Amino acid sequence: MLNLHNMTSHPLFEQRSSDYIRWYPKSLTPFGPTQTLRPESLLQGIYIHVPFCDQLCLFCPFNKRQSQAELVNQFVDALCHEIQLYRPHVHQSALQFIYFGGGSPSVLSPQQFHRIISGLSQAFTFTPGLEISVEAHPSHLNREYLAALKETGVNRISSGIQGFDDEFLKRIGAQHSAAQAFSAIEATTATFGTMAIDLLFRCEGQTLPHWESQLTQALQLPGVNHISCYSMIAEPMDKLPDVMMEAEMTLLAHELTQQAGMVHYASCASGGFDFCPPGQECRYEAQHWGAPQASFLGLGPGAFGFMGGQTTVNCLDVNHYIKSLAAGRLPLASVTAATPEEAQRRYFVLGVKTLNVPLAPFEQLFGQPAHTVFEREFQQLASLELARHTPESLTLTPLGRLYVDTVSSIFFSPQERNVPHPEEPEIRRAELETRQLV
Ligand code: SF4
Repeated sequence: MLNLHNMTSHPLFEQRSSDYIRWYPKSLTPFGPTQTLRPESLLQGIYIHVPFCDQLCLFCPFNKRQSQAELVNQFVDALCHEIQLYRPHVHQSALQFIYFGGGSPSVLSPQQFHRIISGLSQAFTFTPGLEISVEAHPSHLNREYLAALKETGVNRISSGIQGFDDEFLKRIGAQHSAAQAFSAIEATTATFGTMAIDLLFRCEGQTLPHWESQLTQALQLPGVNHISCYSMIAEPMDKLPDVMMEAEMTLLAHELTQQAGMVHYASCASGGFDFCPPGQECRYEAQHWGAPQASFLGLGPGAFGFMGGQTTVNCLDVNHYIKSLAAGRLPLASVTAATPEEAQRRYFVLGVKTLNVPLAPFEQLFGQPAHTVFEREFQQLASLELARHTPESLTLTPLGRLYVDTVSSIFFSPQERNVPHPEEPEIRRAELETRQLV
């Protein structure tokens, strides 16, 4: 059984969230006219970034800007064009997930969703049971909007509820009230039956009993079947509860969700923990991180994707995105092909995010058993008590589940180890270089 001492006495405790990655290999490669996009033989998913919000929250690091109706319309036109431009690059498709992230995709009207989803269905093949997820702002979730959204084929709603206390929501700079949070959950679960929510912890001034009360309320809400808990990352960090308190809050989330019948099945974002009852995992999270990873298009400003063995990163700037597509060009800032060695590493760097990595598909994909290619890494993880392997899988230990980013970083190649994960300034630089090449 895990306790605070096990967690905080580990030699890597202080650095456990410092190696967060969103894609791998991490390097960016500006995309000039002499480079080609490799075709994808079997496309499995779509991620769409909708970079608009009604108002901007203080704590939020995502690519977004204030919503304006005319710009949103132009964005939807451009997005539909982007879908069409990818068609010749995809030989076959069997989509298992479409994920609208942001920003607040719920700034889009049901008609705009209908247009985008119809465009996708004309370009690609939908599999039965396709998951179509939409991240939605609590203030947008009323019954009329949700019923119309359901008509478009959307079948999963996820919302950044963050907490159930007005004073707390105000302090973190969220733009909704506790009443709106409750009303959003009531309307969504009434329409869709279930709902995914995000909660924030380790916020300025937050105590352990406060965090307990937020979790307890969330777990008592009928229909809430997926909870992602995110540790606050905001400057200055010294104003936030310290790492020991963060550890206590993390353990409390594990304990209470487990008591409620949920399991921790993934840790996708830095300092994040995804919980749900068994069998109700988010397919997008499980398949684009979990090994063997799905191929997926990243559409919209700042989206990243993985197709034809290449990581694509779109430009961040909405106006540039619209202009590129109006000129018939994909709005790519970077396209990076993984070398054979990096592709093997990617399998584990991303795969450990879902806590269990099957080994047989590795051998089928790369022609070598994983335990010989990564003998040193497997041994290191075993000696750190963070993961164990059997002939079937590499599985994170209960302790390793609290150190997912650390486990992930153990698979970085020497070249990638010292490359910081690209953030906005680096992506903007790649975007500028690409513009100069075009
Ligand atoms: S609404 Fe969501 S995406 Fe938009 S600024 Fe707030 S937290 Fe970020």
